[in-house]
Amino acid sequence: MRLSVLLLALLPGLPLAAQEVRVSERAAKEAVHRIVERSGLLPDFVVRANPEVRTAVAFIKGRERVIEYNPAFIATIVDSSRTNWSAVSILAHEIAHHLLGHTLDPAAVHPGDELACDRYSGFILHELGATLAESLAAMDVAGDPHGTWRHPPKHARCIAIQQGWEDARRLRDRSAPEPPALNDTFQFVVRFAGDRNTYYVDADGRLVWFDEHAEPIGFGACTPSIAAGFAYELTWEDQTFYVDRHNTIWSRTAHGMQMNVGRLEAYARP
Ligand SMILES: [Zn+2]
Repeated sequence: MRLSVLLLALLPGLPLAAQEVRVSERAAKEAVHRIVERSGLLPDFVVRANPEVRTAVAFIKGRERVIEYNPAFIATIVDSSRTNWSAVSILAHEIAHHLLGHTLDPAAVHPGDELACDRYSGFILHELGATLAESLAAMDVAGDPHGTWRHPPKHARCIAIQQGWEDARRLRDRSAPEPPALNDTFQFVVRFAGDRNTYYVDADGRLVWFDEHAEPIGFGACTPSIAAGFAYELTWEDQTFYVDRHNTIWSRTAHGMQMNVGRLEAYARP
């Protein structure tokens, strides 16, 4: 995305052009490699210095995912923050724009996208060994307290970085790490035509949906039907759907008409 950076709104008056260039492409490539290997992926980003960009930027060109940075800008931030971690956090933020798919739509301006990238930078810097203060260093010297047309205010971005950093610490702190539980107790998978969500019937006959945090939210029930010709009824609020013995889900209109609206499938246990 054009001119999209952690630090687009750098402090006015930082003398960029006068800085000695010390951030080599080799160093930037190494930093990018160390960041992405932490994610278990090795996407081949093209990383290059470009004095023409103002700060740092992630964009797609052809089939390449590119990260360009102004070496003098990075050097200035490293100088004022007195830590190399600030350079790493700027690159991590740009990498996140690629990993989160923001660079597919370079015209989009979403403050939430920026915060998501800040959060990723906090997370990954923890993983690479940075303290919280080191993870915040670049934002401390270069974040804009009032935000810009693209970027949310500095305090919000610092919170996002801190949340990412603390997420990573919390995950590390588990003394006996266990894989996430795989719920194997569902009876059915429920799909409705035209609805991209997938629903499940659990062992207690609850109709559940998972939100992004994977917390099951029960919103209805699946019970044996007493209606002639049907095996189950799916109900929530004032809705009732009927499942026949071939697992087809039917709705009934006020006039007694029936419409095929979806399928119930036995839950395949691994
Ligand atoms: Zn950004």
